[in-house]
Amino acid sequence: MNPLENIRIVLVDPKYAGNIGSVCRVMMNMGITDLAIVAPGEHLDWAEARKLAYKADQMLDGLKTFQTLEEAVADCTVVAGTSARTGLYRDHAYLPREIAPVVLDSAAHHKTALVFGREDKGLFNDEIAVCTHIINIPSSELYRSLNLSHAVMVCCYEIFLLADDSSYQPPQEISSEADGAMRERLYAAWSAMMLETGFCEIEKLDHMMLGLRRIFSRGKLTENDIKILLGLARQSRWVAGELEKAGNKELPA
Ligand code: SAH
Repeated sequence: MNPLENIRIVLVDPKYAGNIGSVCRVMMNMGITDLAIVAPGEHLDWAEARKLAYKADQMLDGLKTFQTLEEAVADCTVVAGTSARTGLYRDHAYLPREIAPVVLDSAAHHKTALVFGREDKGLFNDEIAVCTHIINIPSSELYRSLNLSHAVMVCCYEIFLLADDSSYQPPQEISSEADGAMRERLYAAWSAMMLETGFCEIEKLDHMMLGLRRIFSRGKLTENDIKILLGLARQSRWVAGELEKAGNKELPA
């Protein structure tokens, strides 16, 4: 079973429906679909939630509501609460990156919860007490507390990365990395180009080539990259040859 299916995001008494919608979107982005809300207020504007959920609005049809946090996590083993504050009852907080393996180990076999607090007051001490772990997301002292949905994203992102969800394939370069022989062909063509276009004198060529080799070694060169650079050298050498044939010794600057 995909452990992400065992992870439940629990929002305690959220004040803004827009944040609930944003959380739906974040969760679907990260492959997590079990959303529970504790004590949803009467005032919540569900149309606003749908607007911000956008194409994740089906999450709102499936969400579970509970009167208390204890009920929302009754079937969960690990219950990780989040807090922007440290200090009393919140010491020994984990980083999202540290808690991700704990959450995934647990979710391999059991329901596992991540709990998020109210936008204005966070989680109360009696709610923190229900949690087995506390997560604190490092943030600037200029403004410690994140927007609710952003806090959900940071936690879910770390879990998603570690879960190695098989439906996600990182983008891959299609062209293979160029080998030594191909790179030397490039340097030979560029040496000839630099001489034939008058870019540098023969005495300066070695010095120039060392500089160019350094530039080209800063990143990976693929076979396609080399083909483009070889093409550029070929065309420049051809133009230089044509100009010479036409008796034009002065190349345009
Ligand atoms: N004033 C509240 C902030 C609430 S922000 C407080 O001091 O807790 C709403 C929720 O977003 C928090 O309850 C928590 O679940 C999450 N959150 C925001 N910033 C966070 C941070 N830096 N680390 C962990 N969770 C955070």
